[in-house]
Amino acid sequence: MIIDLRSDTVTRPTAGMKDAMFSAPIGDDVFGEDPTVNALEEKAAKLFGKEAAIFCPSGTMTNQIAIRLHTRIQTEVICHKYSHIYLYEGGGIMANSLASVKLLEGDLGKITADQVKAAINPDDVHAPETTLVSLENTMNKGGGSIYTLNEIKPIRKVCDEHGLKLHLDGARLFNALVESGESPAAWGAQFDTISICLSKGLGCPVGSLLLGSKADIKRARKVRKAWGGGMRQAGFLAAAGIYALDHQVDRLKEDHARARTLGEMLLKLPFISEVFPVATNIVIARLEGMSPEDFMKKLSGQQIKSVKFGPDLVRFVTHLDFEDEHLEEFGKRIGRIF
Ligand SMILES: *Cc1c(COP(=O)(O)O)cnc(C)c1O
Repeated sequence: MIIDLRSDTVTRPTAGMKDAMFSAPIGDDVFGEDPTVNALEEKAAKLFGKEAAIFCPSGTMTNQIAIRLHTRIQTEVICHKYSHIYLYEGGGIMANSLASVKLLEGDLGKITADQVKAAINPDDVHAPETTLVSLENTMNKGGGSIYTLNEIKPIRKVCDEHGLKLHLDGARLFNALVESGESPAAWGAQFDTISICLSKGLGCPVGSLLLGSKADIKRARKVRKAWGGGMRQAGFLAAAGIYALDHQVDRLKEDHARARTLGEMLLKLPFISEVFPVATNIVIARLEGMSPEDFMKKLSGQQIKSVKFGPDLVRFVTHLDFEDEHLEEFGKRIGRIF
């Protein structure tokens, strides 16, 4: 048995999800006629108290569309230096929107309202105009760390005072919400746009949603079309999303519990100097006296997959195909090599 902890994207649809997919009513979504896509978009928008939503092939596309909506050429986005939108989207801020980016530092991948305020450019011929702040929850590179609403509200206030838009990369927002107990609608109220991924912890094969105002989502449809993201009988995929929202949100807590145990197991090993605080389903371990490559090679020898996450870091992500038996087996196997 292979234990694949590279990402929460490696899951296969559950039997219930497959049934939902293959029995979904479908139509041509480019004509707006796929009833299942429409139902998913309405359901997600309503859940977060937003006016509208658009279903896209990836979270990169939903984030990049949001950046396009909230910037123009020669404007600037403020985000943490470890943000997915900056590090892992192929330089899209520049390539898709011709915008600049200001990177902030902060513990566990998080930034504060004071930092945002200080990073807004003056109204000056030399500086790109700041138009957008983008946050990430949970924060992937911060070890799955969580923002709470009390940290977001002051940032929203700064954005309002300076006429800035606020976007949330919520690829793993549900992981944060099941831990904090905060409601999707309360989060929807703080942001102009929110991106959520169905293909991460929620266990869908494909898909992300961008949520926002009617006007923003109308423009988003045109951007998606221009980027080749208009899909036809996408209801098969949207049905997986509806199923996941109905059946696979609460269980994220199990992933978090297993991640905490996994973190404790790792911390007992030689060569591991630190494990980032495990807040959700991501476990990042720091190595000392062994390279990530050598460490990962030992793990691969035991059929355990992980990813390098920095010069001395290795990442493990728990997910719905990693159950108690896998966790137990993980413990046995690492006991054999170290
Ligand atoms: C996975 C992820 C995305 C979107 O990635 P896609 O693979 O394009 O769907 C965006 N932000 C974060 C933090 C992610 O982990």
